[in-house]
Amino acid sequence: MLPPVCIVWPCSLSVDTYVAAGRDVVVPRPNCPSCLSVMAPWSGYRRRIRHGGRCSSMWVPRFRCPGCEATHAVLPAFVLTGRLDVTETVGAVVDAVASGTSGVRPAAKLVDVPHSTARGWMRRFAGRARELSVAFAALATELGGEAAAPLVDATRDAHRAIRAAFRAAASLPGWLGCGRWRFVSAVTGGSLIATNTNSLYLFVGRRRFMPPVP
Ligand SMILES: [Zn+2]
Repeated sequence: MLPPVCIVWPCSLSVDTYVAAGRDVVVPRPNCPSCLSVMAPWSGYRRRIRHGGRCSSMWVPRFRCPGCEATHAVLPAFVLTGRLDVTETVGAVVDAVASGTSGVRPAAKLVDVPHSTARGWMRRFAGRARELSVAFAALATELGGEAAAPLVDATRDAHRAIRAAFRAAASLPGWLGCGRWRFVSAVTGGSLIATNTNSLYLFVGRRRFMPPVP
């Protein structure tokens, strides 16, 4: 039995376009994560998001499974669960810090978030770096890419594994348009730096991997 997960779809819309669509945003109908039935729209809720230094309110549709009657929120890949800032903002900080090109403070400044916020993201990323390394290295191989040989630094390894997995995924239709960090959000169910996740599940293969719409 899988733990409860958020369904994150590989959305390539700009944040502004998604937000402006409101309740009319068109989201692919997902399959139920438990029984694979095609789910039907079932209302939704509003959620705040920060992008480019601005906060907005976005619509998150819910879907209901006709088989198990469970409802699931379906998030666009520019969202990470439980985080106000969009995936690309978090990713920009991780890129700068995990690659060793910048400290946390200048990275935070660059994307206009408080230093303490960016530090929290990096702590969480570092905290699950080994898990991320293993999962994304496996995904890279699964997608026909090459897994990078481990270095001594877990955070760097995780970052390199993510890059390797995306390089492999980018040859499949649709992913290139989403970009690397939305790809990461989609395959981790928005849980890249989630604080309440016990174990990391990548949505790979038919059952846990929602292919992008080209
Ligand atoms: Zn179901």
